[in-house]
Amino acid sequence: MGRVRSYMDSGRRFISGIVPPTEQSEPAWWFAFQENRLLVFQEPFSVSIPCLVSFGELGLAQSTQHYLGHLEGRHCYAIQLADDTPLPKGMALEGLRQVYGRLDEDLFSIATRAVQIVDWDRTHKFCGRCGSSLRLKTTERAKECPNCGLLHFPRLAPAIIVLVERGGQLLLARSRHFMPGMYSVLAGFVEPGESLEEAVIREVKEEVGVTVKDIQYFGSQPWPFPHSLMIGFTATYADGEISLDDSEIEDAGWFTANNLPRIPGKISIARKLIDWFVGKQGRMP
Ligand SMILES: [Zn+2]
Repeated sequence: MGRVRSYMDSGRRFISGIVPPTEQSEPAWWFAFQENRLLVFQEPFSVSIPCLVSFGELGLAQSTQHYLGHLEGRHCYAIQLADDTPLPKGMALEGLRQVYGRLDEDLFSIATRAVQIVDWDRTHKFCGRCGSSLRLKTTERAKECPNCGLLHFPRLAPAIIVLVERGGQLLLARSRHFMPGMYSVLAGFVEPGESLEEAVIREVKEEVGVTVKDIQYFGSQPWPFPHSLMIGFTATYADGEISLDDSEIEDAGWFTANNLPRIPGKISIARKLIDWFVGKQGRMP
């Protein structure tokens, strides 16, 4: 389907890897985080990240280092900075949402990967079964318990996100925790034992009381806030009147392309779904 290709299949030039080169003799990209904030050089209209042979050149205290892979032959590493290390002049720590659009797109994409690995490493120190300290595996992205052998992998929570159409209208809803006035398409986490299509049907039914049909894959997006994978779909309205799930949704309704409320920013797959819908309307006679 053309629309999937046009959305995410952007021919990324990053190749993932686990085992670092034996010697790091060329400049590499260093994605360093304190908590979930990325270390960047601040420039007037953009940010960049350190490209150095050794991260030690910056003189910053760090803990674990993770090899990520390479971008067009240049190696990439994730670093966890010590909590109170002072930053060099011209550098700052910024949240990923803040650097979106100001950092090169390929580097931003790797940063969303790096932050999740650093966060996983920081929050998974001990075995969930026996409590022993975990050891990083060198050949795969996992930790192993030296006592009981249990493997621990980075957390990833799949969530569906769906644009529901009815004629020339789309369904948008407002969650209680959205910014004032903002509406978006519906989304929710997949439950254990559920297929993605079942999750789409259940979420829409639970949140707005409507049933849907013709569920079609749209595209996916890693969403590192903190560790989701958003899987996007389109669907067609089948039956039912909008009735709100009071705990979750504050308001929902049918909107046309030329009468949209405030919608999410371009960073999100939600926006890409809405833009796809709007673009399609524009091409109609
Ligand atoms: Zn164990």
